[in-house]
Amino acid sequence: MTTIPDLLDFDPDAALALLGEWMTARGEPSYRATQVFGRLWQRPVRHFDEMTELPKALREALAQSFRISSLELATRQKSMDGTEKFLFRLHDGQFIETVAIPDGDRLTFCISSQAGCALQCAFCATGAMGFQRNLHPSEIAGQVRELRMLTPPIVPTNIVFMGMGEPLMNWKAVSPTLTLLNDPRALGIGARHITISTVGVLPGIVALAARPEQFRLAISIHAPSDALRHTLMPINTKYPLADVIEAARAFDRRVTFEYVMLGGVNDQPEHAAQLAQLARDCRAFVNLIPLHPGGSMGFTPSTSATIAAFARAVRARGVETAVRRSRGLDIAAACGQLRTERLGRRLPVATEQHGEVHVA
Ligand code: SAH
Repeated sequence: MTTIPDLLDFDPDAALALLGEWMTARGEPSYRATQVFGRLWQRPVRHFDEMTELPKALREALAQSFRISSLELATRQKSMDGTEKFLFRLHDGQFIETVAIPDGDRLTFCISSQAGCALQCAFCATGAMGFQRNLHPSEIAGQVRELRMLTPPIVPTNIVFMGMGEPLMNWKAVSPTLTLLNDPRALGIGARHITISTVGVLPGIVALAARPEQFRLAISIHAPSDALRHTLMPINTKYPLADVIEAARAFDRRVTFEYVMLGGVNDQPEHAAQLAQLARDCRAFVNLIPLHPGGSMGFTPSTSATIAAFARAVRARGVETAVRRSRGLDIAAACGQLRTERLGRRLPVATEQHGEVHVA
């Protein structure tokens, strides 16, 4: 492993401080640090060499002291509905996915926070491949940077952490990444346009709530009772529903519940009633998500009539509810599906080894 620092791993204050000290030590004016930083995220380049506004000798010296990492684009697929899916290869051979979803004048990037995932939700393709490793800020925010560097560039209006991995089990990297996404000196995406999706990792929710920005929180509920949720989401043992609902209530912004509709499993009228009660308890908004069929291990999507009836039943209890449209069905765009298609399934790495939550 090289010890040369990767400039993309630092939040703006840290990167500017690092570059500022380096410039001062070399007798360079401090505005040079701002110039370099501006070429990382706002007008991104791959190499110091391309920072032609800097003297050549300075560019060469920078390249001796710092790195600017990149992700290798392995595959790019476009759906009939305009959704585009990107598979990136990381320096150690891991693969991660990013999906760009156009919707009216919005363009949402669905980004990955881990290579694989330790949580093994029963219907999720990423869970089936096991946990590989946490991503660094340079690899999480780097997904946005890479798409901005394409010709023509693809620039998001919104970000959702709904790609591979559990973002709140990688808070150490996700927290500076949030700063990079949001800070006007870096990617400049409004905090309300950035959503963290979690199974309900409690220390992570507390850490997110402590941030002053208005980042949005979505919680994957998927079942309205502990007994059923446990069979779909093993993490429910560690973070049971009552605690997750309590954390959602304590969160000072409105929370969204995600609820994937699994035919005959969690889509019955009694489930709608229970779900509505939970949502009322913490004033949550409910998103009903049709199951993305690719890689969904023995589950079948609920019929659209069942989903519509379920939505009506939840709404009738005074809970705001939306039915999401599946996007990118023809390119297997749901969580983990592209990587699984390409590499086949791997045996999961033991959850106990990686399930620890580190909130830095
Ligand atoms: N680990 C986080 C974020 C990644 S998954 C979380 O669980 O929230 C983003 C969302 O996609 C989650 O709600 C997840 O349950 C859902 N999901 C996974 N596989 C799916 C599939 N095949 N169809 C529909 N939604 C799926």
